[in-house]
Amino acid sequence: MPHAPSMTVKGDRLESARTRVNAAMDDYAAELRRVDGARLGEGLIATRALKDRVEAVFAEGLRRFDKSGEYAADGAIDVVAWLRSRCKLSGGAAAERLGIARQLQHLPQTSKAFATGELGYQHVAVLARTAEHVGAATVRKAESSLLALAETMDPGQFTGVAKSFEHRVDAQAALAETNRAYQRRYLTVSEPLDGIVRIDGLLDVEAGALVRNAVSASLPPARDDDRTPGQRRADRLVELCQPHATGSADGAGPRPHLIIRASIDTLLGAPDAPGGELDDGTIIPAETARRIACDAAISRILGKGELEAEITRASRSTPAATRRALAARDRGCVAEHCTRPPQWTDSHHVKHWIDQGPTTMSNLILLCRPHHRRVHEEGWGLQRLATGRWKLIPMPRSRSA
Ligand SMILES: [Zn+2]
Ligand SMILES: [Zn+2]
Repeated sequence: MPHAPSMTVKGDRLESARTRVNAAMDDYAAELRRVDGARLGEGLIATRALKDRVEAVFAEGLRRFDKSGEYAADGAIDVVAWLRSRCKLSGGAAAERLGIARQLQHLPQTSKAFATGELGYQHVAVLARTAEHVGAATVRKAESSLLALAETMDPGQFTGVAKSFEHRVDAQAALAETNRAYQRRYLTVSEPLDGIVRIDGLLDVEAGALVRNAVSASLPPARDDDRTPGQRRADRLVELCQPHATGSADGAGPRPHLIIRASIDTLLGAPDAPGGELDDGTIIPAETARRIACDAAISRILGKGELEAEITRASRSTPAATRRALAARDRGCVAEHCTRPPQWTDSHHVKHWIDQGPTTMSNLILLCRPHHRRVHEEGWGLQRLATGRWKLIPMPRSRSA
């Protein structure tokens, strides 16, 4: 039993150090119990810092344990499985710690700040994930400035900064990650049980923003409305599912809006352009911003930076009359074999308006969201068929969609 916790050796220095830490921890807990008010607040902050230090020690040990392959001798198929069964971590928590352990050796400043307690565990996890996505060497080049930002931000804000950094330095990797996230989407609506139906699911950030905007009531609750916010969202979702609430059948009616901020480079698809930004600050890949901007009827595009006016001038939505004519001509998504009706489609500019493509019938086709996404984010080509429908062709990445 190589790693049984009960195994102690007489004169074992690790064991005696652990005994001293435990005694100190008892002492600390007793002192913390004695304070209150502002002093207790300080104590809680210090307690978190202690926990972060323990995580730093753990990460360093885990890096060596991972390398040694010793977990196999303990019967585990990999180190994550070992962490789950022996250290009582969930799969996600185990993978996160392994990611940190592996990346820290390539991030010397992060590693040092973590070990001395200047940098908290959650910030380190964000940096490790970023290094996994774009490579530790890339993070290392910007390590000082990222660490300086980490000091001033909570982990949630810092995640936004790290995501934006990823999009800037490696648009392709960020896009691949977004495509992976999109693959994870699902929705289940359970069978009724005890009079309750459970709804559960995952969405990519763009779809999530649309749903959130749609179910967050636009009006403040009436004075005598005693429903909780959660109940109001549930009621709104059910209202939206009633057929008459979803706009006209040709998709020309009012539709949910998304606000996107993007620079002109982003919309033009320039190689190292930053990502776009949804209203709530979520960063989306440049190609996603191009797709959402493609049918400006579902979105409002705001410029970012100096060329703001240029985007605002160029951006235009498909007029309702054009949209109706498109619905009559295309009768739904034009992708070969696709049967999705007009109200589930976007109008796609065959040549994007940002590249001077006109918003007229000859340059517009209806595509459902999965097919529209395939053309933009997944880089598929479109070829017109004699039938009036369009064939989607997998293509080496091109910027002409
Ligand atoms: Zn498009
Ligand atoms: Zn389709």
